[in-house]
Amino acid sequence: PINIFWFRRDLRTDDNAALFHALHDKLPVLPIFIFDKNILSELPKDDARVTFIYGLLSGINETLKNHGSSLAVFFDEPETVFRKLAATHNVQTVYTNHDYEPYARQRDKAINQILKENNVAFKTCKDQVIFEKDDIVKDDGKPYVVYTPYSNRWQEHFGKMTLAHYPSETLLGNVARHDFPFLTLADIGFGASAVKVPAFNTAKDLIDQYENTRNFPWLDKTSHLSPHLRFGSVSIRNIVAAAAKSSNKTFLKELIWREFFMQILWHFPHTVTKSFRPVYDDIKWRYDESDFKKWCAGQTGYPIVDAGMRQLNQTGRMHNRVRMIVASFLCKHLLIDWRRGEAYFAEKLLDYEQSANVGNWQWAAGSGVDAAPYFRIFNPEEQQKKFDKELKYIKKWVPEFGTENYPKPMVDHKMARERCLQVYKEAVA
Ligand code: FAD
Repeated sequence: PINIFWFRRDLRTDDNAALFHALHDKLPVLPIFIFDKNILSELPKDDARVTFIYGLLSGINETLKNHGSSLAVFFDEPETVFRKLAATHNVQTVYTNHDYEPYARQRDKAINQILKENNVAFKTCKDQVIFEKDDIVKDDGKPYVVYTPYSNRWQEHFGKMTLAHYPSETLLGNVARHDFPFLTLADIGFGASAVKVPAFNTAKDLIDQYENTRNFPWLDKTSHLSPHLRFGSVSIRNIVAAAAKSSNKTFLKELIWREFFMQILWHFPHTVTKSFRPVYDDIKWRYDESDFKKWCAGQTGYPIVDAGMRQLNQTGRMHNRVRMIVASFLCKHLLIDWRRGEAYFAEKLLDYEQSANVGNWQWAAGSGVDAAPYFRIFNPEEQQKKFDKELKYIKKWVPEFGTENYPKPMVDHKMARERCLQVYKEAVA
């Protein structure tokens, strides 16, 4: 008999909660990863995230080889993989870490059912957050939909608890020997992307100074943690421990935003496609394909918007300040549905995370939890003066800015502002 550990968005062997529990159990553990055909079929064959995942899996495979085993990699639908494994092996328990996205919840429900039919237990653990689901709720048991009280309660709970640690890396001797292959990128029909995920930085100095530096895109003094947190190549517990040590809590509060949006998605899964505030689905969006294309390509004539979109297109990254500006521009200046912007980001971002992307896009559109009132509209020129005064970020991404090759603004700010106020008012006032 064996147990199985299923890697998903926790691609590391150290401080991994479910891996620790699996290895702690008495039976040898078969470590597996499944390239889900349902997900991969939607992606371009040189998707940078698939390359990143593959690199992480290769690292895990090397570590497991040092312990006389390897990572079993499958390319199929998860349901099919588990049906086959249950039929061919004497599996007692499948261990994995929680995943809160609607697609993952549905998938796990189906897997649970298949395992049950085969008398296999399914044990799942909290790993990618400090607090999940109903861990932090209001006194009446309802979820928080406003960030600040959530964050305060989060910090209060955190102050009273001892941070868990799961030293899975010390138990790797318990992995099972097996004959399953470690598939290559070519085996799953993909090629390596030239776009790379940068290393992250959580040095004390960066965290201490974060409040003063985080808003300036040309400085680029944020942690670059997001893709690593997305795929679990770092443990959130280690990162939060480092953040909590600083006397300046601004960085910690960003990590709390992440958990805030995760619990919002858990409690309100319909917000992936519907506005959190239903009246916002009555807004008469403009379905202007040519305007949308200009925004995507970074050809709006607003240099801070164009710099952001070009950074995204070329690197899969965009500074948070600029994400707020381009998102506001799409929804408010162009009056294009936030869902189109959300989908474009999902396609391009290395750190694409459904909870954060949907949450922040709805925030920008004004339709989400804790969003600013709709009549507060970012002025791209003012934002540029405040956060890129010397045009350092803009010159990097829009080298033709200031020449006649650069397009004129595609909409007049004043006209766009008034149009937006009018259309929003008709729907929500
Ligand atoms: P840092 O500034 O160093 O922050 C540290 C960590 O805190 C981040 O890695 C992230 O995990 C978390 N965090 C910071 N800000 C936010 C926030 N506003 N919401 C949720 N978590 C936050 N973040 C994603 O991880 N995936 C997305 O798909 C995503 N889409 C976004 C879309 C829009 C329109 C906007 C305005 C923001 C979006 N963000 C998203 C949030 C934020 O922009 C990124 O997390 C951040 O820029 C990543 O860079 P960093 O790791 O250097 O962040």
